Amino acid sequence: MASAAEELDAVVVGAGFAGLYMLHRLREKGLSVKVFEAGADIGGTWYWNRYPGARCDVESMDYSYSFDPELEQEWEWTEKYAGQPEILAYIRHVADRHDLRKDVVLRTKVTQASFDEDTSRWIVRTDQGHEVSAQYCVMATGCLSVPKFPEVPGLDRFSGPWYHTGLWPEGPVDFSGQRLGVIGTGSSGIQAIPHLAEQAGELTVFQRTPNFVLSAFNGPIDQERVADIKANYRQAREAARNSIFGIAVDMPTQSALEATEQERQAAYQKGWDRGHLNAIIQAYTDLIFNEESNETAAEFIRAQVRDKVDDPATAAKLEPRGYPFGTKRPCLDTGYYETYNLGHVHLVDLREEEILEITETGVRTTASEYEFDSLVIATGFDAMTGALLDIDITGKADQSLRQKWQDGPGTYLGLAVSGFPNLFTITGPGSPSVLSNMVLSIEQHVDWISDLIDHVAANGRSVVEAVDTAEKEWTDHVRAVGDMTLFPKADSYYIGANVPGKARVFMPYVGGVVGYRQKCDEVAGNGYEGFELH
Ligand code: NAP
Repeated sequence: MASAAEELDAVVVGAGFAGLYMLHRLREKGLSVKVFEAGADIGGTWYWNRYPGARCDVESMDYSYSFDPELEQEWEWTEKYAGQPEILAYIRHVADRHDLRKDVVLRTKVTQASFDEDTSRWIVRTDQGHEVSAQYCVMATGCLSVPKFPEVPGLDRFSGPWYHTGLWPEGPVDFSGQRLGVIGTGSSGIQAIPHLAEQAGELTVFQRTPNFVLSAFNGPIDQERVADIKANYRQAREAARNSIFGIAVDMPTQSALEATEQERQAAYQKGWDRGHLNAIIQAYTDLIFNEESNETAAEFIRAQVRDKVDDPATAAKLEPRGYPFGTKRPCLDTGYYETYNLGHVHLVDLREEEILEITETGVRTTASEYEFDSLVIATGFDAMTGALLDIDITGKADQSLRQKWQDGPGTYLGLAVSGFPNLFTITGPGSPSVLSNMVLSIEQHVDWISDLIDHVAANGRSVVEAVDTAEKEWTDHVRAVGDMTLFPKADSYYIGANVPGKARVFMPYVGGVVGYRQKCDEVAGNGYEGFELH
């Protein structure tokens, strides 16, 4: 079989931020590379998530590649937080600038990747009939790319159109005057709802868990700040790399409980006014470790909800409770809470009534039946492992990744899996990934993998594999660091809780991007300890 396959040095799966940069770095070495991308265009997350209001919640100046200093200077972001069309335009621009498209095969889903132990090569197959043989296989499949649907039956029976935020169609979607239902109030729902409310005749939102939603204070980008960052971009990038989440903020020095109530309010207000995802959580040293400290920030945010929402009963439903602030991903909004002050917008609290099914005409709950013309499904993703396990990946001794990760993912540094030589996972489970500025983490992983590939060649070897003891030690460390925080207290996608039957294991590395980078550099500096070359 392998002899018939096209021979490549590397296959990259996915043409988002990660896959495109990986392609660029590998091609720079003179390697032959092909990228397979399921979408009809490049862009990954920013191709698929084109729902109304889709926008990044990391500031534009940070959420961009750093590898091309001229591009950094030339590209002009228009808003503090770029919208999906602008980010997609940026990705397309980068692809054209570096002539990346010629090695990307679009509308093609990788279905299978198996390691052939005789040839030490990956055989990769697609739904379009490709079969390629490659020395390296790099999974740039994204952490949030397999949409999750409500577990209730009936979506296929619904007679009107429905749209998942993560699979939004390319053409315009018009909800003018319609009765529209939205299920889900994570970042996607929260961004979409104010825009959907502008169109819909009646909008009904089904909320299962109220989120902590911070104001973005988005607007035209501050040109003074842009000039300042562009004049010092290297230092700005370095500061981001040396931060916890990949976004430089002033580091706290004090516990929330050491401050007076007045000092805390002032600190949280300052964080709130900054319009920044991490400004409040990083106001004190212990908000993510200590429930009592955390509650002081949570209560500050609940007070903002009460302030913004006119009807006290609706405000009470929207106030986030039941899990510590920051342990499910907080959201940044523009006008979310205020939307509930509009007469045609209704909130259904799924803690009071449960969805039983989606019917031909709408949604039936334990309390009522709601009729809709269209539905928006904003129920998120099978995060972190979903896209990897969607592909039938088999390593040495025919072991499948699905089997190996049955009780949760184990990786070495979130980059490699023992038993799966020459396979790399960009922003894989066990790396900071979703708890970081993704573009920064992607660049770090791609650069690191690229250096490791050089190391293999420089040693006259062709195969590199993570050692199982190193993998176990790292995976234990990831869990132990997670357990030191409040994160495991929430039913979040970080822990697989949003997908029924998924192993409940804390997946991202929460030790901070700075510590993580140091660990990766240390591993490389020690001759890639924890890896074996053959
Ligand atoms: P999400 O955060 O997982 O939110 C899904 C929402 O759907 C939650 O409110 C969830 O409730 C609800 N839900 C799930 N299953 C349900 C069911 N069967 N019935 C009723 N409600 C259900 O997904 P997301 O909003 O798509 O965001 C995912 C991640 O993508 C974000 O956390 C972020 O990392 C990224 N994202 C980023 C941006 C940005 O940069 N601005 C924008 C969008 C997304 P529970 O909480 O109870 O599970």
